[in-house]
Amino acid sequence: MSTVTGFICDESYFWHQTGNGALNLSSGGWIQADTHAENPETKRRVKNLLDRSKFMDELQQIAPRSATRAEIEMNHSSPYIDRIKELSDAGGGDAVVHAIVGPDSYKIALKSTGGLLTSVDAVMEERVQNAYALVRPPGHHAEHDEGMGFCLFNNVAIAAKYAREKYGLKRIVILDWDVHHGNGTETAFKNDSDVLFISVHQENIFPENRGAVTYTGKGSGEGYNVNIELPAGTGDEGYFYTFDKLIEPIIDQYEPELIFVSAGQDASRFDPIGRMLVTADGYFQMSNRIKKLAEKHSNGRLIACHEGGYSTAYVPFCTLRVIEALRGKESPVEDPFDLGFHEGPMYPHQKEAVYRAVAIQSAYWDVG
Ligand SMILES: [Zn+2]
Repeated sequence: MSTVTGFICDESYFWHQTGNGALNLSSGGWIQADTHAENPETKRRVKNLLDRSKFMDELQQIAPRSATRAEIEMNHSSPYIDRIKELSDAGGGDAVVHAIVGPDSYKIALKSTGGLLTSVDAVMEERVQNAYALVRPPGHHAEHDEGMGFCLFNNVAIAAKYAREKYGLKRIVILDWDVHHGNGTETAFKNDSDVLFISVHQENIFPENRGAVTYTGKGSGEGYNVNIELPAGTGDEGYFYTFDKLIEPIIDQYEPELIFVSAGQDASRFDPIGRMLVTADGYFQMSNRIKKLAEKHSNGRLIACHEGGYSTAYVPFCTLRVIEALRGKESPVEDPFDLGFHEGPMYPHQKEAVYRAVAIQSAYWDVG
């Protein structure tokens, strides 16, 4: 179905500086540092590909506003926000665990979160049906009082809290398909039943000791936190199987009024940090599936928020396919890395991983 799709981006997102590094390591180790893995190029090339393919003409570009300090405080402690601002004003530093602040990063991070808030208003006021927010720095690892995994403020968590408060929503889904566990988002809603958090991620990758399939939320939030750990090497088929057995039935039963996707394209087959095998077409199909769920339950209201993805060559093609699915129209761009073969059917241990999650979730949902 053809759709009005918003696209939210700002030049400043590419100006957040993470310095030199070797992949995810900061400079100063045993080898010479080149460019830090979380650098602007991956994201800038997404925008370049949209421009060059003219698919940008298919989208409604919306300029993001900045989040206010009070909005950031919906999810982060005041001392933590002060620390980010101080590091930013002082020219940069590390806000705890691999979360680098550069000069002016505070203002850029406010605009990154603001990009999500702008998306929420555009979707809720029905100016667009769905939206892709190409924001940076990313957010899903950021905890209440510490930055983590290249994330400063938790864009999606703040946006969900904002949507809940401003528009009185009672049921919001956040589907996080970034290859890493969305720990910060999980923490934000662990006690809540009005935000259902579903994270599908590579097992035991990052952060340490988070994302266990057995963790289902706390108190009144119990049963509203779904962790699906997949083994390294899982590709398109495994992700589709996860949609079949868990994601689709759970979302059908929850009947959300708004859906967010924490869209990390670091489960791709070329990612230098992740170890999964999702193709650009795989991202297209997953996006189609979540779009159909949004059309069925939430009047099409769907917001995809860019998170991780570190292959500068492949993330643009994967992300373009996500945006094509949201828009309901395909560009003439073909995946230049599609060699005509896929990894084929799932291995038994991959199916078993899905069934471990089904066994846990069957206490709360009709799944499997
Ligand atoms: Zn990631």
